[in-house]
Amino acid sequence: MKCRRCKAPAQVKLPSHNTGFCPECFFLFFSRQVQKAVKDHAMFTPADRILVALSGGKDSLGLANELKEQGYDVTGLHVYLGIPGSSDASLAHIEAFCEARSIPLIVASTPDMGLAIPDVKEALRGRPTCSACGSIKRHVFSRVAREQGFTALATGHNLDDETARLFANVLRWDKAYLADQGPCLADDGGQARKVKPLYRLTEFETACYAFLKGIPHVSAPCPYSRGASFTGHKALLENLEQSRPGAKTQFYENFLRDGREAFAASARATAGLTPCLECGAPTPREVCGVCQLKKMVVAHKAETAHAEESR
Ligand code: SF4
Ligand code: ZN
Repeated sequence: MKCRRCKAPAQVKLPSHNTGFCPECFFLFFSRQVQKAVKDHAMFTPADRILVALSGGKDSLGLANELKEQGYDVTGLHVYLGIPGSSDASLAHIEAFCEARSIPLIVASTPDMGLAIPDVKEALRGRPTCSACGSIKRHVFSRVAREQGFTALATGHNLDDETARLFANVLRWDKAYLADQGPCLADDGGQARKVKPLYRLTEFETACYAFLKGIPHVSAPCPYSRGASFTGHKALLENLEQSRPGAKTQFYENFLRDGREAFAASARATAGLTPCLECGAPTPREVCGVCQLKKMVVAHKAETAHAEESR
């Protein structure tokens, strides 16, 4: 196959677009998909200060790299989770990545907040760790943006993440979540928009981008990641994509164009949010969910210590 644009040998084959590209033309395709996402959804302009959440994976690092190359004002934020065998490797990897590209990096530590993820996992007693971990990361992300005056919060969610999440929300007909899904959302009670500039690109395309740009991935995955991130739904949708190239894009774009509006009335109210009594984050309750988690961890530790003492 030849590159669609320059007719050199194609190295990246994209069935969903019925085409292929050489590396240079693929980078152009990638940049244009990001530019279209940013423009169509008014995500940000060069005047915005953009905080990019960096997990250490190919998507978030690829996003930071691309936005920096496009000339945006980008700062990375890594939330250090205190997970043995994974967190230190991720942090070292992200530090090296940011230093090589002159991207300023903010590191926020959840163990410093009393929320090391292994302690949270213990305190949850078998309930899913990933949803609590996700809430903590979103909480830190919003707090840093609020405190340090960032105007856009960018995450590396790609088309596969977004369609899998949409599919899960549709399976449950979860109207509030459906109303709250999209590539550009207002931050609850804050100033910054939450944006997903990679939403038009598939996981395969972001992986090709990272590989061709020489962005290595972290080889120490989170030990709690089994079954996380809608893995089964992604496989189902990938099967569909194989038989109907372009199905994922169609599913998501049609939802944005025709479906989302239908659930607008079910959107969770943000008008009545008040500052959390403990940490000041906007919340519909007196104490926010993350501060309640913190209390749960403290109580669980005290209980464990007491049980050990009385042995
Ligand atoms: Fe957190 Fe789950 Fe991701 Fe591990 S896999 S970092 S627990 S969200
Ligand atoms: Zn709080």
